Amino acid sequence: MNIINGKKIADEIKNKIKLEIHQISQKHTAKKPCLTVIQSGEDKASNVYIKNQKNCCEEVGIDYRLLKLNGDAAEKEFIETVRQCGDDKSITGIIVHLPLPKHINAQTVQSSINPYKDVEGITPHNLGMLFYHDVPHYIVPCTARAVLECLNSTGQSIKGKETVIVGHSEIVGKSLCLMMLSSSKESATPTVCHIATKNLADHTRRADILVVAVGKPEFIRGDMVKEGAIVIDVGINVKKVLDTCSCQTPDALKPGAEKFITVGDVCFNEVAQKAGYITPVPGGVGPVTSAMLLNNLLMLYKMQQK
Ligand code: NAP
Repeated sequence: MNIINGKKIADEIKNKIKLEIHQISQKHTAKKPCLTVIQSGEDKASNVYIKNQKNCCEEVGIDYRLLKLNGDAAEKEFIETVRQCGDDKSITGIIVHLPLPKHINAQTVQSSINPYKDVEGITPHNLGMLFYHDVPHYIVPCTARAVLECLNSTGQSIKGKETVIVGHSEIVGKSLCLMMLSSSKESATPTVCHIATKNLADHTRRADILVVAVGKPEFIRGDMVKEGAIVIDVGINVKKVLDTCSCQTPDALKPGAEKFITVGDVCFNEVAQKAGYITPVPGGVGPVTSAMLLNNLLMLYKMQQK
């Protein structure tokens, strides 16, 4: 069994991006690539995420701008801000940070992003481009692209492979399926499973490539996976466990105390015994997704220089 090292893949992508941004910025000194994130209200988890995203951008030479709107700002005001950012020539890419307050429809707001600044590839224009075959330059959802990067890192051909994707969200399952159907190089044979799928294990057990994005901790067990399969775990879940550590330092938790760990949608210990390749959580698809966001921003920057 081989572990797919997402951090290593991400570092290689980020190093290339950093070099390219450095080279481009020497030619176009007036304008650096700039990612603008629009956030509504205050939320502890979001603030941590945004801080990490800012560091990631700055690491490769991308300016990071955060626009904070009041949690009670109306949807109209939100859309107006998104449109203004779309017209602002100093901004390369836009993210509307989720979750949004309940009175705002996320899909309506995200759809108002200028598609040429849609760094996450989630506007109707960019999602629609997924239908076309072998289009060379367009922006695709970062997580779906990250899954393909993880698959390519194995050196195994994806072409024609029996692929089962569990989960049909717009940014992962559906997009990945369309990307596989629209590419000559990465043209697997995908089946997409969801909540209404009958006998899920019958599908997962025949997969040469199994991609899981359901948001349920350790949902895929060892007996649901084919021997030698490539398993890509997209899930990020927080799981409560009892600490078994017996160390007695003052900071240590007492044995039996509750603590929280991050796990995927795949039961790693069981599935790793059967898989040929597997992504861990954390350290698998997550870091590659962050790197693909930077890659999308660089693509937009280059398009906007023309
Ligand atoms: P989502 O929008 O909640 O979609 C989950 C999908 O799983 C839905 O299509 C749902 O089907 C399906 N599903 C739920 N229970 C199922 C079951 N028992 N059998 C088969 N399908 C089932 O979630 P998402 O945004 O795709 O995210 C999924 C997971 O990936 C989450 O843990 C999220 O945190 C993680 N994630 C990670 C990254 C990364 O960079 N690593 C990026 C994005 C998301 P129905 O719609 O039919 O109910």
